[in-house]
Amino acid sequence: MNLKDNDLFRQQAFIAGTWCDADDGRTVDVTDPASGELLGRVPNMGGSETLRAIEAADAALPAWRARTAKERAQILRRWFELMLRHEDDLARLMTLEQGKPLAEAVGEIRYAASFIEWFAEEGKRIYGDVIPSPAGDKRLVVVKQGIGVCAAITPWNFPSAMITRKVAPALAAGCTIVVKPANETPFSALALAELAKRAGVPDGVLSIVTGDAVAIGAQLTSHPLVRKLSFTGSTPVGRLLMGQCAPTIKKVSLELGGNAPFIVFDDADIDAAVEGALVAKYRNAGQTCVCVNRFYVHDAVYDAFAERFAARVRGLRVGHGLEGATQIGPLITGKALDKVQSLIADAVEKGADILVGGDGHELGGNFLQPTVLTGVAPGMQLLDEEIFGPVAPLVRFSSDEEVVRFANDTLYGLAAYFYSRDIGRVWKIAEQLEYGMVGINTGLISNEVAPFGGVKQSGLGREGSKYGIEDYLEMKYLCLAV
Ligand code: ADP
Repeated sequence: MNLKDNDLFRQQAFIAGTWCDADDGRTVDVTDPASGELLGRVPNMGGSETLRAIEAADAALPAWRARTAKERAQILRRWFELMLRHEDDLARLMTLEQGKPLAEAVGEIRYAASFIEWFAEEGKRIYGDVIPSPAGDKRLVVVKQGIGVCAAITPWNFPSAMITRKVAPALAAGCTIVVKPANETPFSALALAELAKRAGVPDGVLSIVTGDAVAIGAQLTSHPLVRKLSFTGSTPVGRLLMGQCAPTIKKVSLELGGNAPFIVFDDADIDAAVEGALVAKYRNAGQTCVCVNRFYVHDAVYDAFAERFAARVRGLRVGHGLEGATQIGPLITGKALDKVQSLIADAVEKGADILVGGDGHELGGNFLQPTVLTGVAPGMQLLDEEIFGPVAPLVRFSSDEEVVRFANDTLYGLAAYFYSRDIGRVWKIAEQLEYGMVGINTGLISNEVAPFGGVKQSGLGREGSKYGIEDYLEMKYLCLAV
């Protein structure tokens, strides 16, 4: 691994403040998606180990909840500072197991840490309410309290940020939490646990269980002590987990798939739109849930946009994330590569043209050439399905009404982007798009102070911002006779 601090490379799970193996000693391999090389192993745990983590979270709850928000904030602040102090190691670990370029990994570590800093402070602002009473002999008060033991299941595309975005508000609100990270990227999660321990997070307040997703998920979603599940991942798995949470009526937060449109109107600043398109499409090799899935470009500017965009995409450097110049890393697995290639093949078969790329990269393995497709039309699978790869399909449109219809014609409603300089159109289109987040004249929308989340089948709840902590709170109404 070659870290400055080798204790950040942990190959054991973290339960009740202790590093431990699976009960039966089994492990799962973790590989570098760029080279296929074995990086290490983590325990292949299941229901019994998860049960111990839940019981430890329940045992730790009363003391953690009893601390003041300020005391919890001091611990979280130390965790935030430790993340920044070790950002080189954390980023290196992330690039090795996830594949993203090192500069993006450093960016993610800072982004991930920012949620801890933010929620440490927000925890001090969990205000209640005093309600004017309809009766002279009663006083009505609302207090907000942490919901209790929480569970988080997180994906591989943001191995750190998807964890801190859940764990930080939970801990700030006085909850305890059990996390199951993705099997592709457990080392980033375990390094965070090591730093949390050093920061003074008490035993049992945060546990990380690695291994069998189905068995761990079944325990986390069915155990009555777990009061809330927060999940980030695909819509089918989110739907399944929501169903599994139904019998015990858990509160659920879901950040699921997206099918983001990126609309370039005829009055757009084309150069700005090209720059926005590059970040919104090719970050993390197209593997984010807010990555553009479909470009809609007005007839009048279609050729100009396609030409300038293609020129920039041809210049993107593909390679191992640890090589300094790399802008596009590998896809996470061979299976992911096959899926993206089959979406390209389907579009080409149905009449799309390849303007850039279109094939596996000469580096082989999980690398794909950054791709731009023109002549894309309804009926091609990649307009309906999340591509999750560096492929940009360009579709023509001719009127505002038409493009809003195209944009909203999907089960998803996470992020949308559009470029226009007409202020009236900006307002109208922003209102008409059925999405949780809309980037207007920008391709970059995520930060810790803004509410991240989707509508329709893209999810429930919001993460980050002053709203993000609400998902970890319950309201209690006190009626006092005087
Ligand atoms: P992706 O396509 O990004 O891998 P998934 O929804 O498959 O998205 O995975 C997101 C997270 O959900 C990962 O941690 C994965 O291990 C976990 N997961 C996948 N299937 C299940 C399941 N049946 N029960 C619980 N967790 C699951």
